[in-house]
Formats: sequence, structure tokens, C-alpha cells
Amino acid sequence: MNVKETWFKVHKLPGDVYAIYEDGQWQEVISYLIIGQNKAILWDTGLGIGDIKSVVSELTELPITVVISHTHFDHIGSNALFDEIYVFDSKMAVEDLKKGLTHEEIKRDVEEDSIWKPLPEGFKYENFFIKGKAPTKTLKDGEIIDLGNRKLEVVHTPGHSPDSIMLIDEGNKILFSGDAYYPAPLYAYAKGADFKAYVKSMEKIVNKIKDKNLNYIYASHNEVVEGTEILNYILESMKEIVNGEKTDYKLDEEGRRVYRFDNNVELVILDVGHTI
Ligand SMILES: [Zn+2]
Repeated sequence: MNVKETWFKVHKLPGDVYAIYEDGQWQEVISYLIIGQNKAILWDTGLGIGDIKSVVSELTELPITVVISHTHFDHIGSNALFDEIYVFDSKMAVEDLKKGLTHEEIKRDVEEDSIWKPLPEGFKYENFFIKGKAPTKTLKDGEIIDLGNRKLEVVHTPGHSPDSIMLIDEGNKILFSGDAYYPAPLYAYAKGADFKAYVKSMEKIVNKIKDKNLNYIYASHNEVVEGTEILNYILESMKEIVNGEKTDYKLDEEGRRVYRFDNNVELVILDVGHTI
């Protein structure tokens, strides 16, 4: 569907959810608007290049609470436009949100030549930075966010980052997976990444999917996925790395290990026991 801010593409998805997709930058980040009865959740605020607030106000009149999947730059870009921000209960996450990112910090991650769509009117790349905004509430593992007609369960899934969470919407059979799973190479090498924790998180989430019979994965990059079997395969692949069955990997130009499996699964990690 069309919205005025053409930086974003918006798709209406099953379960009264909108995908707000940034298809003009290589990361193809997706934020989601989850419509409730008395409020709506905005699951991440994207890169901060386009005006996501105007998109959200075109889609709903409900009050908005932002819930952050994790505090990497590509999910927190427009936090400062919103009043209510929830993040996982971690000191580092709270501090990172308060600080935001300077132009010097962000330009390493969002290079101008990684953007292939016309930039929104008035946007100047050389002035681009992410404004800090203190979260208004911290979330614990197992906490329920109640939207009246739907409930979202917070699941702490460290690994990709220490503050990563997923949301489970059991009523609509949806897993909001953040960056712990999307259909592209999966990473555990940034500050605070922990591959062994990632494997545990994947096991936890695979069990929850079985228990709750979830059917859709609304991932924070690339595209949404129908069916959840791929996560079983990823868990098995991760275990092969940990128990030493999978020994072949390539080193990328940064010296990270790139493990390739079937089903287009690629895991990029420092090494098995390494945490930073
Ligand atoms: Zn991301």
C-alpha cells in the first residue's frame, strides 16, 4: 500500500500488523506496527532516514508504544520522535538508547553508497545522526504486553546482541523474531554477541513455537516467512558448530567465520566460545 513518505514500503499482513519496510538501503530493515484495541505497538523505529512517525499516523490513530527488538543502530533510528519507548532490562541497552549515535558513528554503518533509493526530501546525509532518547520502561523475560484484544509475550533471546528480545503473539500465531532470525546471513559478532547464548536462545524459541503452534515469522530484515520449520534447521546447524561436527567455514575479510548450510542458512560468528 502507498504512504506519503515514499522512503518506506508498507504491507498489510495477516493478524492486523503492518510491515514498514526500508527497501532503499542494503539492510532492508523492517519495523512492524501491531494494532491493538487501546494502543498500537511499533516494533522498532528503523534507520531514521524517513519519517516513520508520519507513516504510523497514516495507519492508525491509536496511541503508540515503541518496543525495541535490540539497540543496534538500524532499529532505533527514529526513537526520538516517540514518547513511549520500551527496551529489554539491560544497563547497556538503556545507556545506548540515551546516547544515540553521532554522525561519525552512524556513517560507518550507513554508508551513502549503500542507499539506492532517492532520499526523503530535506534529508541531508552529512547531517544524519541518531538522537538519543531515554526508554520509559524496561522489559523482563516473560513479561506480557497487553493491547486489550491481543497479548504479546516478551522472550529474551540473547546471542546476536545481549539485549535481543522476541515477541510472541500466540492468538495470531506470530513470532516477531527481531534479528535473531531473518532469511539472510545471521550474525553474532558485534559488541556483546555470544554464539553459545544464541544457540540456547534458538532452542528456547523452537520449544515455544512448538508449545504455542506459531506459524508466521515477522523478521526484522528482508521479508516475512510463513512456516517456522526453518528455525529447527537453524538450531540443528548451530548445534553442529558447537559440538564440532561442522568444521568447514570460510573466513571473511574481517576474519570472521562464515558457516554455510543447506536452505540458504549462513551463520557468521567470531568463534564458538568467543564473547566481546
Ligand atoms: Zn538489524
